Amino acid sequence: MKALVLEEKLRLSLREIDLTAEMKMGPRDVRIRMARVGICGSDVHYYKHGRIGPFVVNQPMVLGHEASGVVVEVGKEVKSLKAGDRVCMEPGIPDPTSRASLEGHYNLDPAVRFWATPPIHGCLCTEVVHPAAFTFKLPDHVSLAEGAMVEPFAVGLHAATKAQIKPGATAVVTGAGPIGTMTALAALAAGAGQVVISDVAAEKLKIAGRYAGIVPVDLGSAPLVERVKELTGGWGADVVFEASGSPRAFEGIFELLAPSGTLVLVGMPPGPVSLDVVAAQAKEARVETIFRYANVYAKAVALLASGKVDLKPLISATFSFAESVAAFERAAEGRPADVKLQIAVEESAR
Ligand code: ZN
Repeated sequence: MKALVLEEKLRLSLREIDLTAEMKMGPRDVRIRMARVGICGSDVHYYKHGRIGPFVVNQPMVLGHEASGVVVEVGKEVKSLKAGDRVCMEPGIPDPTSRASLEGHYNLDPAVRFWATPPIHGCLCTEVVHPAAFTFKLPDHVSLAEGAMVEPFAVGLHAATKAQIKPGATAVVTGAGPIGTMTALAALAAGAGQVVISDVAAEKLKIAGRYAGIVPVDLGSAPLVERVKELTGGWGADVVFEASGSPRAFEGIFELLAPSGTLVLVGMPPGPVSLDVVAAQAKEARVETIFRYANVYAKAVALLASGKVDLKPLISATFSFAESVAAFERAAEGRPADVKLQIAVEESAR
């Protein structure tokens, strides 16, 4: 099957690869013709560095995990989907009998098989076989391009769920990358009255600031804490989402928070960072962390279907499958105005 293969660090090729083992259909699986795949920061990280923490690319690996497609075949026991259904796929498959799965935290199953996390192949290929339980039908008016945005949006939605946002709350998101912006949109959908988003890149803030309810703050021109105080009558934000992963963002982060507020750690810093515990205690702050997401895919699709969340403006450019390598080279440049780049594996699928 044709696939975009990361041969090793900094070497990608669009070539034939044997995925026979991956294409074995079980009774609860569906076979899907791939339509759109978004390029994620993690894909780019594997491309540039050949590893993320303990996950090392030791053999050629197909990239991609933000996916949508069209069902072409369903297993004998599948009732929820049929051939022709347009779908998006949740990329992490846990062992359903693991303790983590049984306790409702399937994303934390140590045995989870997540697309494009070595040694598991990703989905930048023409077809995949996937469990029906992790495959979600898209309503007619939600495009396949939007379907491939559900994966990164799920991260934001999981963060907003963990934050337990109350109606009208003020949230702050530090970092206006794709995940930060989608976290801000998830916070608004969860009921936040306003979401302040900060970054050093003016282009990123411009894109996020086009959404009603999102207040962009350029860290180069205004101290974030002053702006948050101004907007909250000196009280602080009910929720702060740290979505930059930048060690600097952790300095004084509790100053942004209202008493009894919640800090949600979304971004992954490059190494250990320090948090001011006493500042957290003085406010009885609650600190939450997230690892990917669980139980939010259907809700994410529902928010797109209702029109409450519009992710279309965040798709900056779409490349053909033949241009996949060029798409990754552009993603690796990290242009600030590029929020999400997508690859149209199937040209006709929109
Ligand atoms: Zn992703």
